[in-house]
Amino acid sequence: MPELPEAETIARGLRVPLTGRRLSGTEILHADVVEGGSVALSRGLEGRWVHRVDRRGKNVVLGLGRGPRVDRRLVVNLGMSGRLLHREPDDGAPPPTHPAVRIGLTTQEGASAGSLIYHDPRRFGRLRLLTPSSYRAWSQSLGPEPLAPTYRSRDLAEGLARSISPVRSWLLDQRRVAGVGNIYANEALFLAGIHPGTPSASIPGHRARRLHRALRKVLREAVEARGTTLRDYRTAQGWEGSYGGALRVYGREGAPCPRCRTPVKRIVFSNRSAFLCPRCQPDPDA
Ligand SMILES: [Zn+2]
Repeated sequence: MPELPEAETIARGLRVPLTGRRLSGTEILHADVVEGGSVALSRGLEGRWVHRVDRRGKNVVLGLGRGPRVDRRLVVNLGMSGRLLHREPDDGAPPPTHPAVRIGLTTQEGASAGSLIYHDPRRFGRLRLLTPSSYRAWSQSLGPEPLAPTYRSRDLAEGLARSISPVRSWLLDQRRVAGVGNIYANEALFLAGIHPGTPSASIPGHRARRLHRALRKVLREAVEARGTTLRDYRTAQGWEGSYGGALRVYGREGAPCPRCRTPVKRIVFSNRSAFLCPRCQPDPDA
């Protein structure tokens, strides 16, 4: 499931090919991925220019306008298996197997500049076209961006201190901090030496500071590696991310802990697997 590093990689990969292009001729092949209705989306996209390509949390955000200002935002949540692919005109590549939405791109002179394809075999992803006020309300419902320079360890520590949820659940809650999913939550907790089931409020200040550092470290490393491809995720150019080989505990049940060689353990809570080193991340109840 794409998290912050994967959405960031896709946004970076779309920035050059999309910025300054005009959207035209949207085909909606699977309306279930569109929130607010297919007709409204096609009409809303038609003729708008792409001014910016950004990311918020796990979402790719296109800033669009009929004039020089951004007056709509297309927010794309990739769900479990979504891809946002840029295709050059007549690039000869085989067509995507599960396109859900195809948006034509044109240059300022009106020539074809290829297409933007939302591809999603499982179709848990969502596309939403938002006005400036609805975008603001949506963005405010999300927590801070963990890689923003303004995100301090104090913010994380204070947030944890107010919650009795297990820390892994706290990290996955998009209202607490935006963009973190199960892979990077597990990796950060390993680096910080914190058991995923630890009640958030019981984590002492120095550990919270370590978690803040660890979270930013794994997210930055993963962005540099263009994300983690476990199965479905691809960059905007269709490539796999390369962070999978750098994962320390996630998906590595039974493999030796990179720090102490104890076999990595998998536990399940809140219906999701957590991976940890039982020695480096001692169980708070034990
Ligand atoms: Zn260990």
